Amino acid sequence: MKQKLLVIGNGVATTCLLEHLIELDANRYDITVLEANTRVSNAPRVMSLERFGEAYHGIITHDEDWYAEHGIRLLMSTPVETINTDKQWVCTAHGMQFDYDKLVIATGSDPIMVPLLGHTLQGVHVHRDLDDADYLRKITRNKGRAVVIGGDLPGLQAAVSLKQQGMDVCVVHLGERLMASQLDSKAGFLLRRELERCGIGIRTATRTTDILGDSQVLGLHFADGSETTCEKVIMAIGNRPSTRLAAQAGLAVSHGIVVDDTMCTSVDNVHALGDCVDHRGKCHGLMALTHDMAEALASTLSGKPASFSSAATATRLTVNGIDSYSAGRHPDNAAESGLQDIILRDATAGIYKRLVLEGPRLVGIVLYGDTSDADWYADMLKTGTDISEMRDILIFGQAFHEDAERDPSAALAALSDDAEILGCADLNQDEMRFQSLAKRLQGTPSE
Ligand SMILES: Cc1cc2nc3c(=O)[nH]c(=O)nc-3n(C[C@H](O)[C@H](O)[C@H](O)COP(=O)(O)OP(=O)(O)OC[C@H]3O[C@@H](n4cnc5c(N)ncnc54)[C@H](O)[C@@H]3O)c2cc1C
Repeated sequence: MKQKLLVIGNGVATTCLLEHLIELDANRYDITVLEANTRVSNAPRVMSLERFGEAYHGIITHDEDWYAEHGIRLLMSTPVETINTDKQWVCTAHGMQFDYDKLVIATGSDPIMVPLLGHTLQGVHVHRDLDDADYLRKITRNKGRAVVIGGDLPGLQAAVSLKQQGMDVCVVHLGERLMASQLDSKAGFLLRRELERCGIGIRTATRTTDILGDSQVLGLHFADGSETTCEKVIMAIGNRPSTRLAAQAGLAVSHGIVVDDTMCTSVDNVHALGDCVDHRGKCHGLMALTHDMAEALASTLSGKPASFSSAATATRLTVNGIDSYSAGRHPDNAAESGLQDIILRDATAGIYKRLVLEGPRLVGIVLYGDTSDADWYADMLKTGTDISEMRDILIFGQAFHEDAERDPSAALAALSDDAEILGCADLNQDEMRFQSLAKRLQGTPSE
């Protein structure tokens, strides 16, 4: 007889897990998924924003037919209320009880609403799921001015989407720079410049103190005494892992539900993944890591060795057609941490690429404007590839590396005149160095 696998939550983490599980061991489990929402909601958040104007059915990745096709029971409008880990059952808000042999908690996270004075006024919203995206789409019909509080990934995506829908938009961010934990200061600067070029106002190092208005939002008041007017406020300052169920069931919970590298919680036969977990003291809230967790948990559930690592944490963002990507470690001053940089800057082309090395290994990646080699670099970062042999040409990317016949000076010539490369050789500082690097790339030792 098949074992019973019960999954709580039907977000991105669950669909990734199910995909991997079907691939590894489709027949091991009788699978039931319990989801609180009234409709299938497994759209990646990034998609729900990027494809802001699309209909709901164009966004979700796995519809009800997909579950039926794979013999998975999906019960919508079924919020789980309690978990009994001794007797191995869960109970829903409607009093239905489900037994399990293995339980997976994938309850995601909840958006944080800062209880500022005025946060309950009409026109103040959070952005989290498809319903919120629908709502934002509706409010853009009246155009007007919106302020997004929060200059990290979700906030910037919301700002760009609102701008694209014709609203006047400003982002207010507490930190000194945008997306500080994902991008280094130079890529952050380019991103800010691009957003401003699109007509999005940016205020960094700005603390909002009050939301102004009587019943409807009229504006914001800041700690430096200044004010701005607006009709809408979108709070996008982060999410809190959804841990209530797990904590009540007696599972170890820190910032999120504590899991080890195999995605096991502190209680036997209970696993967790996605935004709700705390792995080695960190909660991540990123799609790429959710995918990796799903892969690890599918192996664990299939009785295969598994090891999740967040070392290669990657973030992708597309703003107005400009891509950025970052992964691993990229402190602003790499030398202070015993790391070395290889940097390519081509201001004319709007490209910035930075590779961070620790000895012969790649430990950090920041790409802005050209992310075509992101997966290639990410793979090297993940596998700890020794890059000594290709150190000098690494920054030019995979195509260049794989095409042994290619004339290296073509890669250099393709860069604009004010481009520079630091870390493997000083390119274009003057013709001499250009030639010197070209020679080195062709295998002739440089003077
Ligand atoms: C606005 C926004 C933009 C983002 N943009 C990016 C991006 O560009 N790149 C990136 O890498 N990441 C991005 N993220 C993060 C990414 O979306 C998450 O990492 C990912 O969705 C996590 O998946 P999950 O399944 O853990 O959680 P979710 O997708 O939130 O799914 C959790 C599910 O559990 C259900 N649930 C909760 N409690 C219960 C219960 N008691 N019973 C039953 N069901 C329950 C919920 O209804 C929900 O459907 C973004 C997030 C947001 C909010």
